[in-house]
Amino acid sequence: MKLLLTDQAISPTIPVLGHVRPAFPRHDRWGTRMILPRRYPLLFALCLWASGAELAWATGWKSQHEAGGLSIRAEFPLREVQSLVDEVSALQGDIEATLGLEASDRPIEVYLFASKGSYSAYVAQRVPEGVKRRALYVQGKDAGRIYAYRHREMEIDVRHEATHAILHNCLPFVPLWLDEGLAEYFEVPAVDRKLKNPHFSGIKWARRLGGRPNLAALEKKRDLLDMDGDDYRDAWAVVHFMLHGPPAARKVLDDYFRASINGDVPQPFAEAFPARLGNWGTLFSQHFR
Ligand SMILES: [Zn+2]
Repeated sequence: MKLLLTDQAISPTIPVLGHVRPAFPRHDRWGTRMILPRRYPLLFALCLWASGAELAWATGWKSQHEAGGLSIRAEFPLREVQSLVDEVSALQGDIEATLGLEASDRPIEVYLFASKGSYSAYVAQRVPEGVKRRALYVQGKDAGRIYAYRHREMEIDVRHEATHAILHNCLPFVPLWLDEGLAEYFEVPAVDRKLKNPHFSGIKWARRLGGRPNLAALEKKRDLLDMDGDDYRDAWAVVHFMLHGPPAARKVLDDYFRASINGDVPQPFAEAFPARLGNWGTLFSQHFR
């Protein structure tokens, strides 16, 4: 169930959808950290009322980057994370080219904090539900806003949340599982997306143990609280299968996007896969062999 907050003290006007990153690692069902420790993001969707006072941060931002619709503000010199600035700046083009989509010009604002403490203090005033989380994406009508703090995997967090922001600038609606699967795909550096995502090891184990992902179950999930680590892994795997597997699988994704953009009701993936690919579990297993 999504949380619907109507806290007028936060903001009177802007309904938003937010995704948050987890504060702590979780273990998968095998009891080991088979992917990155901070993975298995137990994320949850929020319908919030966003703050419009992002620029009023009392201590000020020490560094700022502006390019097109993207702005990045940080409490530390951005030159210290230049590779992240470059990757986030390129991410919209990457996503548009990879998925054949075109993003709107709704601005995307990224706020980077020097410490968990300053992040928590800032977020607590604006999105209290996100204060214990590692990173936060809040979609507003006027802009998409991303909040993250500096730690070993900040770059992954920012790419993940920025992917959500860009996708929601491209599409009128993104199903939860697909939104997360694509964010997991694009959160790694561009050079690693096809062959080095840490989910590879998990999906190979899961394929041996249980076969293909349950698409119908994934498509039924409406709340990030319903998605566990296996769901994130499976969502990523289906995305990877569609992007790098059989052309017919890619066509399913393209057709879904086209229908969504045209205002039609897309065919559910759980129906499209067997209809277009037949026994797609075999193709899936071959893809991740
Ligand atoms: Zn996410």
